[in-house]
Amino acid sequence: MIVMKFGGSSVANGDRIRHVVEIVKAELPRKPVLVLSAMGDTTDRLLEAAAGALETGGVSVGQIAGLHIKTIQELALGPAVRNEAEALLEELRNLLLGISMIKELTPRTRDYLVSFGERLSVRIAAAYCKSIGVPSCALDAWDAGFISDSHFSSAELLKESWDLIPKTLIPLADQGILPVVTGFIAKNEAGRITTLGRGGSDRSATIIAAACKAEEAQVWKDVDGILSADPRLVPSARPVEAVTYEEASELAYFGAQVLHPWAMRPCMKSGTPVLVKNSYNPKAPGTRIHSGPERRSDPVLAITSRKNITLVDILSTRMLGQYGFLKEVFSDFARHGISVDMVATSEVSISVSLDSVYDLEGLKADLTRIASVDIKRGRAIVTIIGDVNRSSEILHRAFSVCARGGIPVQMVSVGASKVNISFIVQDDQAARAVQDLHEEFFPPPPKRDSTA
Ligand code: ASP
Ligand code: MG
Repeated sequence: MIVMKFGGSSVANGDRIRHVVEIVKAELPRKPVLVLSAMGDTTDRLLEAAAGALETGGVSVGQIAGLHIKTIQELALGPAVRNEAEALLEELRNLLLGISMIKELTPRTRDYLVSFGERLSVRIAAAYCKSIGVPSCALDAWDAGFISDSHFSSAELLKESWDLIPKTLIPLADQGILPVVTGFIAKNEAGRITTLGRGGSDRSATIIAAACKAEEAQVWKDVDGILSADPRLVPSARPVEAVTYEEASELAYFGAQVLHPWAMRPCMKSGTPVLVKNSYNPKAPGTRIHSGPERRSDPVLAITSRKNITLVDILSTRMLGQYGFLKEVFSDFARHGISVDMVATSEVSISVSLDSVYDLEGLKADLTRIASVDIKRGRAIVTIIGDVNRSSEILHRAFSVCARGGIPVQMVSVGASKVNISFIVQDDQAARAVQDLHEEFFPPPPKRDSTA
C-alpha cells in the first residue's frame, strides 16, 4: 500500500482533479490511499467568510459554492454528488448565519467551519474516480479512524487511531477500492470536528502511511521537491534527489520549507520513506526523504538563508575561569521568553542569534547587570546543509567565497546535528552569499564542445 497526498493547488479545479486522478491511476497496482486538501484556497476563503459574518453580519458563500459546483459540472458528475455538495454548502451557510448572529468565532467553531473544504474536495474527487471506472469511496477522516484530543486548531490523534486507521483503510485498499480521505481534520471523542493545524493534510497523510505500514508516503506539491537553494534567489537551483529526515528537518527550519518537520514526524518514527513530488511536473523524480544513511559524493546538499536575524553580543570579564555564567545568561533569555537560534562562545564573550521579532529592552536591562551587551539588528543566517565529516573542506571553500566577495562573516556555528554549518552575515549580503556559495558548490555542468 502507498499513500498519495495532493495539496490545495494540485486539486484547484476540474482540470487539476482530472490530472491528479491520472497520476493516481498509474499507481493503482500499489493500492493507493488518496489524501486531499481543500480545493485551491478554499480554507482561506472559509476563514474570510467567517470574518465577513463577524464584521458585517453578511453571509456569503458565493465564491466557495461557485468553485465546487462549477467543478462538479466540469467533471460531468451525476446528481448524487451535486446533492451532497449542496447539502454541505447549506450546512455551511447555516453555520455562518450562526456566527453572524452570535458574533463569535471560537476555535471549536472555526475547526468545524474549515472542515467543509476537505469534506467537499474528497466527495468530488471520489465521484470523479467512480465516473471513469475507478472504484473509490470518499471518507471523512473520522470515518477512517482519525479520533483526536480536543485541542481545537492543533489537535493530536488519540492512541486508538493508530489501530482504527489501518483497520478501516487496509481492507478497502485490499478490495481494490480507492479510499479518498480528507486531510487536516478529525473528530474528538465527543464527536466534535477538530483540525490538526494549518497545512495539516501532509501530516494526515504521513499518519496514515505510518499507521498502515505503507511502502511510502507520496506528498504531491507544486515544486519539484527539495531544492539546493531558494529558486527565487538562485534560478539554477536543482532538486535534491534524496535526503535523510534529519537533513530535511534542518532544511525546513532554515528556510527551505517543503515539508514541515511536524508533518514528517510520523513517517520519521516508523521509518516510512516520504517522496515529495510535483503534480505540475510528474515526470520529475522528486525528493526522497528516508532514514539514511545517505551516501553522496558532493559535500553540500543545499544552501539556505533566513533574514531578519538579530545578533546579541554579551561580553564579560567575569566569565574568565568561572562557572555558572552561561546559566545566568540563558535564564535571562528564558525569563523573557526569547528563543535562541545559534550560539558561539569564547572565554569572555557569548554571541547569540535570534529572530528579530522580539523586543529586547527588558532582556538588555537584565543582562547589563552581569555583562556589557551589544545588540546588532539586520543580520541574516546562511546555512549550508552538508556532510559535516567534510566540514573543514566546506568551511575552507565557503570562507574563500565570502573573502573573495567581500562578505564579512560575523559568527559561525557547526551544528551538533552533524549536517548544519551556519554563519551570520549582513542582511543585505545574504542573497549574494547564497548565490556565490551555490555557484561554488553546485557549478554548472561543463558545456559540451559541439565540435567534439
Ligand atoms: N486545507 C488546509 C490548509 O489550507 C490543510 C492543508 O491544505 O494541508 O491549511
Ligand atoms: Mg491548503
